[in-house]
Amino acid sequence: MKFVSVPVDKQKINLLGFDRKGLAAFFAEIGEQPFRATQLLKWLYQENVEDFDLMTNLSKSLRGYLKENCTLATPACVVEQVAADGTCKWALQTDCGNRIETVFIPEEGRGTLCVSSQVGCALACTFCSTAQQGFNRNLNAAEIVGQLYFAQKRLGQGQKITNVVMMGMGEPLLNFDNVVTSVNLMLDDFAYGLSKRRVTISTSGVVPAMYRLTQVCDVSLAVSLHAVTDALRDILVPINKKYPLKELLEACRDNVKIAPRRRITFEYVMLAGINDSVQDAKGLVKLLKTVPCKINLIPFNPFPNSSYQCSSSEVIDHFRTVLQNADLVTTIRKTRGEDIDAACGQLVGQVADKSRRHLKLQKVEVGHAA
Ligand code: SAH
Repeated sequence: MKFVSVPVDKQKINLLGFDRKGLAAFFAEIGEQPFRATQLLKWLYQENVEDFDLMTNLSKSLRGYLKENCTLATPACVVEQVAADGTCKWALQTDCGNRIETVFIPEEGRGTLCVSSQVGCALACTFCSTAQQGFNRNLNAAEIVGQLYFAQKRLGQGQKITNVVMMGMGEPLLNFDNVVTSVNLMLDDFAYGLSKRRVTISTSGVVPAMYRLTQVCDVSLAVSLHAVTDALRDILVPINKKYPLKELLEACRDNVKIAPRRRITFEYVMLAGINDSVQDAKGLVKLLKTVPCKINLIPFNPFPNSSYQCSSSEVIDHFRTVLQNADLVTTIRKTRGEDIDAACGQLVGQVADKSRRHLKLQKVEVGHAA
């Protein structure tokens, strides 16, 4: 991992960007013992102490160093909206001209934070409004963890974030290293300590990165499937042209091998007259019969100038019945925060587009989306 331990241009080091391994390396570089990493993580994420002076088990000189050279900076909140159902959406400023969105969804017994991984998105999924915004850049780890840090602080201890889904703006697996660092912190018992079942990365199907993820990070995986033929998926999720269904499902099978009861969640957006026929449902049954999985049907959330319509609830119910009759565990995603445009695919933030119009899908490399 790269970091700068000597402040450049008086810029302070943002400690939110380090997982335990990164922090240990940071402390080693400044001549401190690596165990300082766990001490610091506990102060930050468990004791909620931000003032270095109050971190009493650190030496006085180390506290002085941290005070002078380090910071805990989250993206600044510029707009907060609260929906009738309690869903909160925050627009967070990452830099001049760029804003991302983060959403908190409270439910009985749990609270889910939907986190962004990029400013905009380079993939051109035709039913997603983030795609219309274009792509600016990857978020760094501090900006990803910063969303969680900010949200938990803002919500207070009365409303605990129990689940995190990487389903906000961007394609997480095209920002691999920063997403893995962030997820490490979410799963680390010395930091957020969330269970691997409660942290989900959603991907459009960046196949090589899926294999890499399986190797380095035991986290839940959701795959945006949305179509059962390559011909339709090429249109809805254009990265399918590069990584078609056969390769995608092979990567899914590889992922579930790492643990006995593991399942992939397949997301399937319900688009009227496009992918919602009984034939599509049967195609889904056939396609997924060799992958341990569950299916999450997502009613399409409209946005300005979108050319699709959501399937009717009767069609969605019938689609689900076909899947359930074939023993596929199927849920229908409840749309939350509709009145503040906080639902799936409606997050737009503000993106100073630098690349999308000129970006060819073929040029998108894992870990280097820009
Ligand atoms: N890039 C990641 C995360 C995207 S958002 C991915 O593709 O998985 C999370 C889910 O919302 C994805 O399944 C995405 O396809 C879906 N989605 C996007 N736009 C939508 C819309 N307008 N209505 C419903 N779901 C949408």
